[in-house]
Amino acid sequence: MKLPLHWKIVIGMVAGLLFGYLMKNLEMKGIVVDWIKPFGTIFINLLKMIAVPLIVVSLIVGLSDLKDISKLSKLGGRTVIFYLFSTVTAVSIGLVLANLIKPGSFINEESRKSLLENFAGDAAQKIELAEKAKHSGPLQPLVDIVPENFFNALSDNGSMLQVILFVILIGIGLILIDEQKAKPVVDFFKGLNDVIMKIIDIIMSAAPIGVFALMASLMVEIPDFSTLGALGIYALTVLLGLLLMTFVFYPTLLYTIAKVNPIRFFKAIAPAQLLAFSTSSSAATLPVTMERVTEHVGVDEEVSSFVLPLGATVNMDGTSLYQAVAAIFIAQAMLPEPLDLQTQLMIIVTATLASIGSAAVPSAGMVMLVIVLGQAGIPEAGLALIFAIDRPLDMCRTVTNITSDATVATLVAKSVGKLHEPPLHKEE
Ligand code: ASP
Repeated sequence: MKLPLHWKIVIGMVAGLLFGYLMKNLEMKGIVVDWIKPFGTIFINLLKMIAVPLIVVSLIVGLSDLKDISKLSKLGGRTVIFYLFSTVTAVSIGLVLANLIKPGSFINEESRKSLLENFAGDAAQKIELAEKAKHSGPLQPLVDIVPENFFNALSDNGSMLQVILFVILIGIGLILIDEQKAKPVVDFFKGLNDVIMKIIDIIMSAAPIGVFALMASLMVEIPDFSTLGALGIYALTVLLGLLLMTFVFYPTLLYTIAKVNPIRFFKAIAPAQLLAFSTSSSAATLPVTMERVTEHVGVDEEVSSFVLPLGATVNMDGTSLYQAVAAIFIAQAMLPEPLDLQTQLMIIVTATLASIGSAAVPSAGMVMLVIVLGQAGIPEAGLALIFAIDRPLDMCRTVTNITSDATVATLVAKSVGKLHEPPLHKEE
């Protein structure tokens, strides 16, 4: 079929939602859980399987192309500045919207009570998870970046930041040693890089089926929306913020700073956005984000191989915006007095840090929200209020998260003269 990939994914998505809806109403959830859902899991596993090799190999290739360590610090500095700027903007938009719309005032006493009762257990689980993060010392995140064993870092116990640190050291080593000696190593990784990119193409050809399975199983597993009327305004506030970020803020930056046509940009990254929506995980989406940004937007691998894995881990504008709105919503619904300005300003700092600390997996943002609530003196048990609607919002905020990563990669590439015209056949 000649249809562009993103349309095939959209068709898979819609068909999955309809199929799930039908099976739910026919009381045949079991069939979806036993026979369809595993294909969604396989698809996500395939993406995760290729993510770590991709980061290692492409970062080595990217860094060795830099040929100069001072360029790396320039790249790093710009990346951090753009990431921080976009996250602080996102939290601020979230705070302004939540204060203007006041979603907490739309929830009546009855629904407040029933949500708090029904989801108390789920909320307690997340609060427990957050406790761990809370009890570590202020420098623990720094300690956590340095792995004691590289192979552990590559495994499930490790983290993307540990892998990135180790690979940066290899890259620096390659830049510093004799060019003759570095060449065979770099050539090997260049070949491997092409192989991995091909594997991603192959995995992506199964995306419509994977997304169908993910959507169908989501549909049979999420709670019934009819009971969620009270949360509608809260959900709309988060969505409005995410839409502003995704379709106003990033396109403006792309157009004014990078001189990139936003429509072309969105066409190029659409498959990654659709996957972010279906998987709710920036980490699982990373291989596709990298492939699309490098080969379809035209960002040089020197930049994308560094900026994107880092962004998937620490840059979560959608998550920070959601944390700001959720914190204000819970405060409005549970506290007698509105939060004062000082507390709200503190939320800008805590939500920025909490989003940096959130893992790039489904519902991680909610765990870190507990810390934002705790710091602002908002009852943590209020998490139960927003639990029921969290999954759909997670899907949407993950789209914003990866769009932000792709935007920053493009801006950084432009600023260091590494933004190319993508090959014509790649311009969908
Ligand atoms: N699911 C989000 C991501 O992977 C994180 C979150 O907000 O829960 O980007």
